[in-house]
Amino acid sequence: MTATIINGNEIAQQIREELKLEVTAMKEKHNVVPGLVTILVGENPASVSYVTAKQKTSHELNFYSIQDNQPADISEKQLLELIDSYNKDPKIHGILVQLPLPKHIDEKKVLNAIDPDKDVDGFHPVNVGRLMIGGKEAKFLPCTPAGIQELIVRSGFTTDGAEVVVVGRSNIVGKPIANIMLQKEKGANATVTVIHTRSKDMAFHCKRADILIVAAGVPGLVKPEWIKPGSCVIDVGVNRVGEKISEKTGKKVAILKGDVDFEAAKEIAGAITPVPGGVGPMTITMLMKNTVKAAKFAHNIS
Ligand code: NAP
Repeated sequence: MTATIINGNEIAQQIREELKLEVTAMKEKHNVVPGLVTILVGENPASVSYVTAKQKTSHELNFYSIQDNQPADISEKQLLELIDSYNKDPKIHGILVQLPLPKHIDEKKVLNAIDPDKDVDGFHPVNVGRLMIGGKEAKFLPCTPAGIQELIVRSGFTTDGAEVVVVGRSNIVGKPIANIMLQKEKGANATVTVIHTRSKDMAFHCKRADILIVAAGVPGLVKPEWIKPGSCVIDVGVNRVGEKISEKTGKKVAILKGDVDFEAAKEIAGAITPVPGGVGPMTITMLMKNTVKAAKFAHNIS
């Protein structure tokens, strides 16, 4: 059997089209435009490219967008004051501070200074707690895990009662996706197992998975024989394993591989995400979804 390839680019595009319609309706019915600020400190090239992509998407969706570039030597106090000014700005519904920050700034202090109701990344301790409680309490799901849930649901897999096995327990992927899948909610209600470096028999757990979510950052960690036939495999790993010359641009680009042996796994799984082109494209789209949600919460729009 050859697995269905879960196309993250297509699903992300579909969600962006839905968001565009929502944004138009919000403007027409309520005169509300979702507002997003992305704060970039310094000129780290990877961070520049990430915020550029986020701004590009927010413009495409007709958001009110601000790209706020600050010098690398901005003081922590100045950055905290800047965040406070956006916390108070009624036109801004979502605040994103691009990480990493320069060493003289305490990242935790900065992220915790964002108003939890504008924390569209979903990493503020208040939002982590809200997700844990679930139901109506959960406001913003962190973007990558929220994207994973969309990929599973939109690919037609039933999570209700499914054995979901998550490899990895980081605060940005493993723990939140495990938590999301465990909620008493549509697109969740799963029986969840989380495995990590101290887990005793990875193969045993993976073989039971109806839905296997792998976020370890170890290329080829999950062996094809660990995959349950017909299961849904979500490979979150992005590992640079070399370089090649791009056929499109003629420039050197990284060769990326996931945590799963894709070629072999696709002959066993029912559906699988490729790397790149699976989970990756979903993250920015979910940031936009959270910004629309934040604007709706702020203006009591249901
Ligand atoms: P992380 O913070 O390094 O966490 C990795 C987790 O995997 C840890 O919990 C670790 O266990 C576990 N792990 C590592 N090696 C293992 C092994 N041999 N056996 C079992 N468990 C193992 O990584 P992360 O931030 O969650 O990211 C994971 C991967 O996802 C990375 O490749 C990253 O680039 C990718 N990622 C992609 C996106 C995206 O596509 N948008 C977003 C975020 C992350 P311990 O806790 O025991 O150390």
